[in-house]
Amino acid sequence: MNIHEYQSKQVLREYGVKVPNGLPAFTVDAAVDNAEKLGSPVIVVKAQIHAGGRGKAGGVKIAKTTDEVRRYARELLGKTLVTHQTGPEGKVVNRLLIEEGSKIKKEFYLSFVIDRLSASIVMMGSEEGGVEIEKVAEEHPEKIIKEYIDPVVGLMPFQATRMAYAINIPAPAVRKASKLMQNLYAAFIGKDCSQVEINPLVVTEDDDVIALDAKLNFDDSALYRHPDIAELRDDSEEDPKELEASAHGLNYVNLGGDVACMVNGAGLAMATVDMLKHCGGEPANFLDVGGDSAPEKIATAFNIMLEGGQAKGIFVNIFGGINRCDNIANGIIEAAKLISKDGKSLPVPVVVRLEGTKVDEGREILKNTPIGNVFAAPNMEEGAKQIVELVAKAKA
Ligand code: ADP
Ligand code: MG
Repeated sequence: MNIHEYQSKQVLREYGVKVPNGLPAFTVDAAVDNAEKLGSPVIVVKAQIHAGGRGKAGGVKIAKTTDEVRRYARELLGKTLVTHQTGPEGKVVNRLLIEEGSKIKKEFYLSFVIDRLSASIVMMGSEEGGVEIEKVAEEHPEKIIKEYIDPVVGLMPFQATRMAYAINIPAPAVRKASKLMQNLYAAFIGKDCSQVEINPLVVTEDDDVIALDAKLNFDDSALYRHPDIAELRDDSEEDPKELEASAHGLNYVNLGGDVACMVNGAGLAMATVDMLKHCGGEPANFLDVGGDSAPEKIATAFNIMLEGGQAKGIFVNIFGGINRCDNIANGIIEAAKLISKDGKSLPVPVVVRLEGTKVDEGREILKNTPIGNVFAAPNMEEGAKQIVELVAKAKA
């Protein structure tokens, strides 16, 4: 789960990480009020969206007067901001962070992520902060310094100091930088984060060390331990289809293509997405319906996939183990009846591949269905080919 910058900074404050004074605002008036409360000669008006790259896209404005704060707040609230991280459709700005301006001497990069290869948390730092770190990683990988953290002992002070020197933090600020790194690590562990990214980490003109931007991601599976964090979820930032699916206990991820897939089990779902790609199709989603063949649940899944007209066909790929194929086939037919407007035919072609217990009975049920636009496939590859062809035909 992601949260907004102002929320991340609030969490970091609890752990003693220095961040600029700031207050969130949902309206222009509140933005102006907050600026007056902060009483700083320079006020930064920052769009709050779940994406970085706001600076370059005009989402971070420096104001020197209250009138400027008002103007920038008016300009940003309600605006669709397109950054290199939002995708071309952009994100609507509903919240602002009104923050005191910092006197920046130099910008650095600092982050903590989970490194699968070493099965540990790695701290990454760079002298090249503020800009797109992906570019630095690609063009100058030597400029990204890594410290692997032993999960038993945690981030050792010498590692933090070594990082501070390696990224050329000015000498008078090294101790503060090293302390800040340790506080960030404590926040990462304390809140079950999957990522903490500070870009930029700044050293100010009077050698203070501040997290000027903050991005915290949390491990969804640990959210039950952190009700205070779960509460910060901003539904307007989430994909509406993904929200609806999770409300129905379905694992759904939108992949942007036009061949929807409904599968049981995450492994088979991934294999199905791969197979569709292999056959020249573009998967619309990843959907794991789990072991449930209740017609209502399948109908909900169909509806979510068909909403908005993105999907031009559905590939159902189910392995029936405990859940028998004849039950699943019946579930699919009942679901098809529920969502077909005329009770006769589905709005898009649905190819079904079943395998497992009672597969012959399941296929027989599908073959004899009175509902049109439902096809039974002999195996996974043939099924994938068939749905890709049907979708291509529908688009032609
Ligand atoms: P993003 O990463 O989305 O572009 P940032 O919060 O990193 O947004 O802001 C972009 C740039 O704006 C920073 O690199 C910094 O130069 C400047 N900036 C952001 N907040 C402040 C602040 N409080 N005071 C001074 N400059 C700031
Ligand atoms: Mg940033």
